[in-house]
Amino acid sequence: MNRLKPRLLTGDTTTGRLHLGHWVGSLENRVALQKEFDCYFIIANVQAFTTRMDRPGEVHQSVIDIAIDYLAAGINPQISTIFIQSEIKAIAELTIFFSMLVPFPRLMRNPTIKDEIRDKGLGENYPVGFLLYPINQVADILTFRPEIVPVGEDQIPHIELTREVARKFNQLYCGVDSHTADEDYVAKGGLFPIVDLKLGRTRRLIGTGGPDCAGHLLKMSKSLNNAIFLSDNADTIAKKVMNMYTDPKRLKASDKGEIENNPLWIFHDIFNPDAVWVDEAKERYRAGKIGDVECKKKLIDVLVALIGPIAARRAFYEKDQTEVLAILKQGTDKANAVAEETLKLAKEFMQQIYF
Ligand code: ATP
Ligand code: MG
Repeated sequence: MNRLKPRLLTGDTTTGRLHLGHWVGSLENRVALQKEFDCYFIIANVQAFTTRMDRPGEVHQSVIDIAIDYLAAGINPQISTIFIQSEIKAIAELTIFFSMLVPFPRLMRNPTIKDEIRDKGLGENYPVGFLLYPINQVADILTFRPEIVPVGEDQIPHIELTREVARKFNQLYCGVDSHTADEDYVAKGGLFPIVDLKLGRTRRLIGTGGPDCAGHLLKMSKSLNNAIFLSDNADTIAKKVMNMYTDPKRLKASDKGEIENNPLWIFHDIFNPDAVWVDEAKERYRAGKIGDVECKKKLIDVLVALIGPIAARRAFYEKDQTEVLAILKQGTDKANAVAEETLKLAKEFMQQIYF
């Protein structure tokens, strides 16, 4: 593979709009890495049907919303490729071939799948396609043969599966020796690089809500109604922060407060650039010398400042949705050219070219 720049792939499921968890978990890295890497960003609308099969209109809207979120966040369509998953037929074909390389019990051991079944209340009635989605995601990634995938912590098991499938494919069909070091697979004749994952500075941002019945603070998630969105305006951010869960034992400002496991301070630590203020305020909070309201107001200022430039770019793209669709079409065409090439090579290695 002769590339001018190493390739990067990542993306998001179209189950809503993007939130601060996406920003610190992956999006911030994507914006920063755009120049150094040849970036592909997949808008995963097929994956959204695993839990939204009865809401196709919402999935459609989310495709547009997430494209606007990307552009507003600072992804530059002149240098990066944004595309729609369902338009890339090679991904569907590779999903089927890859599904033969994954033993069923291996799929069921995936901790993210178990967490999602629990946190999204899927019970026992989730569709077959839900269990298939990690393999679909392996195909999302390998179709583009990237070197690096920036994601949040919940994606670690999926990336590990991607690495396993790539090794197995390269060994079975490309004749690469199973003792080969991960970084040498392509040099030794393999089709798929063994991808590296890049975690964000916050691997798992918690949501604005309180703990679940087992005492865990849940991850901020589009699906859990605990998110501050990149598209929220200053008033909405203020309301969400004011309603944010803090220390439930603290009833008035003069009560001593807990810092640990308190979303208010977790957010300050992550987002507030004024570390001196945060340290002093934490001391006063512990001693019962500063109120929740004052600390929340400070957090509102910090978040509104972070979202300010994003909101300005959003206003531009929201006015011109034909431009957004044109960017998606152009990115999808470019992505399809790469995907068709990978599919052809994969079928050659699998000896399944007939005509
Ligand atoms: P859903 O609730 O539908 O699963 P989500 O909010 O988990 O949506 P995804 O589209 O599944 O979002 O995730 C897209 C990317 O953002 C992944 O790399 C994921 O790890 C990262 N991400 C999502 N939520 C967070 C979070 N709270 N903290 C850090 N990273 C996150
Ligand atoms: Mg998710």
